[in-house]
Amino acid sequence: MTHTLAPLPFAYDALDPWVDERTMRIHHGKHHQGYVDKLNAALAGHEGLAKKSVKELISHPEAVPTELRGKVRNFGGGVWNHTFFWNVLGKNDGTIGGPVEQAIMTGWGSVEKFKDAFSVSAASLFGSGWTWLVIKDCKLAIMNTANQDSPINEGITPILTIDVWEHAYYLQYQQKRPEFIEKYFAFIDWKKVNTLFAQVR
Ligand code: MN
Repeated sequence: MTHTLAPLPFAYDALDPWVDERTMRIHHGKHHQGYVDKLNAALAGHEGLAKKSVKELISHPEAVPTELRGKVRNFGGGVWNHTFFWNVLGKNDGTIGGPVEQAIMTGWGSVEKFKDAFSVSAASLFGSGWTWLVIKDCKLAIMNTANQDSPINEGITPILTIDVWEHAYYLQYQQKRPEFIEKYFAFIDWKKVNTLFAQVR
């Protein structure tokens, strides 16, 4: 099986003004595509891994030959993380709603406190990586991963994420990662996040 780049689930300008069309085209067409290409190159000649999905490859690293594990973790993670990211994005009307809002209230006391905690986590991540909202021990939790590591490497289920690699924001925001994070909250598709949450519970 050759892995392919999943099309964006929205138009390239759908996230403007948070993320403009130029950034989206480069992020999806060059960076995300690059991970797909590098994963395919790494898997070439390893027929035993050919039938496995990206999710299966990165969530069961023990089944990947030792010499390939680092590449699969980085490139497979790059493929899976980006596809997941695109799927939880979309302009919202400012409300979260559903069981996710209830769980946020339980976990942080208010939506504002949750946003603050998530923003601090994303802004303080050193270097390149991702900030996630995950389900851990039946509760919501915020976690960071470095590089293209993913919560599913550790069997943890995410329901939301933000990519804080510089390639995600540098053309528009330069070094101002906190501004990129602040504007993100208006472009989370909370309906999809609620659907993911419901699938896990
Ligand atoms: Mn990225």
